[in-house]
Amino acid sequence: MGCKMVDKRLLVAYRNLKEHLWINSYGIMKILNQAYPMKGVTNMGDLSIPMTRQIIQDKLTAITLDKDQESRFQHLVEKTIMIDLHEHPMVKPEDPDKFLDYLGGDNYVWGYEAIRHGGFTAVGTANFYRGLLHTEETSFIRFEDLVDEIDMMLSDINFQDGVVKVSDAEEIEAAKQHNQVGLLPTVEHLAIGNELQRVDLLYNHGIRLAGLTYRRKNYIGEGQQERNDGGLSVFGIEVVKRMNKLGMVIDLSHASYRTAMDAIDFSQAPVAFSHDGSYTLGLQQGGGEYAKGRLRRDEELVACARQGGIVGVTVQPSVVRSWGSELSIDRLLDHYDYMVKLLGIDHVAIGTDSSIGPRGSGTISGLESPAEGKNIIRGLITRGYSDADIIKITGGNALAFFRRVMQ
Ligand SMILES: [Zn+2]
Repeated sequence: MGCKMVDKRLLVAYRNLKEHLWINSYGIMKILNQAYPMKGVTNMGDLSIPMTRQIIQDKLTAITLDKDQESRFQHLVEKTIMIDLHEHPMVKPEDPDKFLDYLGGDNYVWGYEAIRHGGFTAVGTANFYRGLLHTEETSFIRFEDLVDEIDMMLSDINFQDGVVKVSDAEEIEAAKQHNQVGLLPTVEHLAIGNELQRVDLLYNHGIRLAGLTYRRKNYIGEGQQERNDGGLSVFGIEVVKRMNKLGMVIDLSHASYRTAMDAIDFSQAPVAFSHDGSYTLGLQQGGGEYAKGRLRRDEELVACARQGGIVGVTVQPSVVRSWGSELSIDRLLDHYDYMVKLLGIDHVAIGTDSSIGPRGSGTISGLESPAEGKNIIRGLITRGYSDADIIKITGGNALAFFRRVMQ
């Protein structure tokens, strides 16, 4: 048995202990840390900051199914390769005021346990949090912080049992076969300034899907909350071409209308709206100002699908309704129904944008954390989708899409 093996086992035991004794257990953890120092192993977290528990049993709500539906659910959980196009798997401190201290440290905790519990085989990691150390506006984070976060995550994955980095459809399928959890490195947006070669750098850091912009304007194009919509820039067109060449997925979730439509025009490969909802439906259901700027119009969604693209449906109440809303899971399922009707069954996917820990943007009951991901399967069953359709929405479509882009 190699030394690394022993270290790994110790680490797993240590983590289990940490998870179960996390309340008032820092003294014990410190003693353990001194007794078993784990050199080179990240993810021990800063022991002075209490972290959110990844699975909170009494909070997990399952959608009620009848007996037949329940057996379909069990079968689907085994069969489907569940993929979340957009998630934030970094575990956050339970106290939001400690978030910046935590980000400024050099140990992050990742939500492998929550992802596994939620039934996901692979999740896009949507990295960016560390960038908040140097700016409050996510649109303007530094490239260096982004790369640090990605590399810390990739390093941590190496020390996990049952967790792998995945880069394409084949690796995601292999992860399912081996009962592993796959992290698909992605970024919320390309914080590359005006340096094209940084797209290649990100690719080499494992990134396979990237947003062109966040909410504000950057060198690439306009974000969805800018004052004027100038669309994709000349530099942005170069970025689109470079991403096409690398087989990196272009994500338009936060792009302005014009930027999104331009990118669909200029891209040789299909594109994604990785975590979105319908503008038309959002308006009908009384969506607030934030939702209006963030939800996607039919024209954009149809243009994306026509080109072979994909739309991930978000669970963010701030997006599907308004900031701070508390919604039932039915309001989320409405967006799935709407998208399937508009785009056809082959272009709809999961893109939760969920995270582990407090967030002020609101809650959808039954989908507050990736740990509750299986409720999407249960919800789709209640909406009358066939098993074949559910397998497509929950992962099959994403796999086919990755094959189309990364060929
Ligand atoms: Zn986002």
